[in-house]
Amino acid sequence: MEIEHTDNLFESELNSDDKDQKLFTDEPEKEDKKVISKQVKPEEPEDSWKVLVVDDEEDVHSVTRMALKGFTFKEKEIQFLHTYSAKETKKILLGNPDISLIFLDVVMETNNAGLDLVKHIRNKLNNHLTQIVLRTGYPGQAPEREVIVEYEINDYKTKTELTTFKLFTVTLASLRAYDSMIHLENLRQNLEVKVRERTSELERKNYQIMEMDQMKTRFFSNVSHEFRTPLTLILSPLEGMLMKENLEEKDRDNLEMMYRNAVRLLGLINQLLDLSKIDAGRLKVELIEYDIYKVLRMIARSFTPMAERKKIEYRVEIPDGELITYFDRDKLEKIITNLLTNAFKFTPEQGKVSCKIKFNDKKEGMIKSSLEIIVQDSGRGIPAEQLEKIFDRFYQVADTWKNGISGTGIGLSLTKELITLQHGKIVVESKPNEGSRFIIRLPLGKDHLKEHEFEVKKPEEIKEDVLIIKCRMHDDDAIDYKSEDFISEEVDQPVVLIVEDNADVRQHICENFENEYVVKQAKNGKEGWEKATALVPDLIMSDVMMPEMDGVELCKKLKTDERTSHIPVILLTAKADVENKIEGLETGADDYITKPFNIKELLTRSKNLIEQRKKLREKYTHQIDLEPGEIDVESADERFLKRSLEVIEKNMGDCDFDVNNFFPEMNMSRMQLFRKLKALVNQTPSELIRNMRLKRAAQLMKQKFGNIAEITYEVGFNNLSYFAKCFKEKFGVLPSEYK
Ligand code: ADP
Repeated sequence: MEIEHTDNLFESELNSDDKDQKLFTDEPEKEDKKVISKQVKPEEPEDSWKVLVVDDEEDVHSVTRMALKGFTFKEKEIQFLHTYSAKETKKILLGNPDISLIFLDVVMETNNAGLDLVKHIRNKLNNHLTQIVLRTGYPGQAPEREVIVEYEINDYKTKTELTTFKLFTVTLASLRAYDSMIHLENLRQNLEVKVRERTSELERKNYQIMEMDQMKTRFFSNVSHEFRTPLTLILSPLEGMLMKENLEEKDRDNLEMMYRNAVRLLGLINQLLDLSKIDAGRLKVELIEYDIYKVLRMIARSFTPMAERKKIEYRVEIPDGELITYFDRDKLEKIITNLLTNAFKFTPEQGKVSCKIKFNDKKEGMIKSSLEIIVQDSGRGIPAEQLEKIFDRFYQVADTWKNGISGTGIGLSLTKELITLQHGKIVVESKPNEGSRFIIRLPLGKDHLKEHEFEVKKPEEIKEDVLIIKCRMHDDDAIDYKSEDFISEEVDQPVVLIVEDNADVRQHICENFENEYVVKQAKNGKEGWEKATALVPDLIMSDVMMPEMDGVELCKKLKTDERTSHIPVILLTAKADVENKIEGLETGADDYITKPFNIKELLTRSKNLIEQRKKLREKYTHQIDLEPGEIDVESADERFLKRSLEVIEKNMGDCDFDVNNFFPEMNMSRMQLFRKLKALVNQTPSELIRNMRLKRAAQLMKQKFGNIAEITYEVGFNNLSYFAKCFKEKFGVLPSEYK
């Protein structure tokens, strides 16, 4: 752009008489003012910069136009708008919110018309972007500094000051400022849109989570209630039956098992129900006024049988005498039972568990007195990094399951919630392999509780047996099995091994199989593996989810070991989905049954598998009878048979070779070899050796190898008449008659 360097342009222009020298010569003069205000229409702000000149003096308009003729900034030209009064300006502003710059006269209709307009723009229209440059005729008309600040006036010049060049610089600076502000404003608006979008997205998700949470809570609560009714209807008649004195031992065992498991289910459901009540804020503290020491003694004492059974030194320290106070009996029982159950669960035999109670009458705020409960054990402890998580819901210390201990991860989180509900505190100290100590501080009385947090109930007389039953429900080892790990060679019935971690399920299967089978039991995969290899049973039933070693791993091991590869395996599992079924069968399991299973079906399937084995046995027997040493090797079992025959073959001429040398050569125990050969060819090792010798003798006779005495010694018999007797038994004729 070209700039005229005239310092007093305004002056000169204003003094000029030549009103015809209009710059707007293309428009009729008379209609000019009207036309200009009419002309104003919102233009695309991207195309040009809208600059509004507001002045009641016509010359100012033309001079400004002229001075800025050809002006461009960022490749955009200026689009001029004109008006002569503040009143008209307001109309123009309405249709043009995108004006970049206003040159504004101060004195127009009134002395303050310009300043009032600024106020209107900034406050009423809330427009803080448009740049405003004030112009006055004389320096004395300059607004106060405060006004410049307050009204966000961007610049002030006297008319005489605004020479062509100054107009250029002022315009440029203003447009630059406007452009930056627009840019920032756009950024801000974009950001605001994004923030709004994100906020509404978060709100939506939050709402969904809340809804799901409520649904879950409702579901838990409904389902738990639904479970409780039928369970109660199972429990009370069972209780009635168990009261009867003339029950048969077996029926009593079964009824007790049903009772124990129903109580256990009820316990788990009650825990879920408590959690859902806590979540919904519906669990209240239910106070009774009673002797708290008496209750504590009963709870603590109920663990004595478990301590004795697990050979754990169990110490209880509760102050003598009585302490009548307000407390929530049910919650107190749940808290201590949970902690003691864990202590016994995670402490091995010969370990120590203690439960100490101390009364504390130190006043703390609204709490007048409190109880300190310390449950300590010398068990496996908890790693430091996991200590803070053990109170989280469903949290279980890593490898808890692997170590043979089951659980739900609810106990401690519920315990903590129950304590918090009573304004108490729980802390834990623990060292791996040394033990754990849980310390609880439980306020007594009711002054510290707000009115809506509790209700007072009438104490019922406390029944001791209830506590004992509850204690038993946690005690999985209550029923143990006889671990007689030997199978006599005389046993005729098939031997089944049940590998299952739940004692009741084991017992249930056991009772139903005992009539037709010799039943052996193992309580996890590892023990199952040991017993399977030692006993070589005829059938194995194994649970899938088990501590130490699961059923899938056990099955894989069994199927790839020569000693056990022939044993049919049935996997039992609570997981009913098909994928697991495939996984189960891929491990080589012969059958798969989902829990809860029908015991009759299990019996039938077991029988079928044993029958199938019989057929296989006939096939093998037939094979070795045909031609010793010529077995088509396909399976692990066939490989084993071939190897057995090779060992016998190798020692054929040694009359001292018998079962006692046979089993070490096969790298098996006597019982393993016995059971495996019985299973595959229905012959004992001695029978097999003898049969092989006789078979070879018959072959040699056919080949005219030598006389009977020579053949007898060749195949390892050292007694002619015994050979003749055995030969007759096998082939129906004496050796001398054999052709
Ligand atoms: P669970 O039903 O699995 O026992 P809890 O909430 O009672 O659930 O316990 C959470 C975890 O804390 C357990 O899996 C266990 O690993 C650990 N834990 C709790 N008490 C003890 C303890 N006395 N000794 C060692 N570990 C413990």
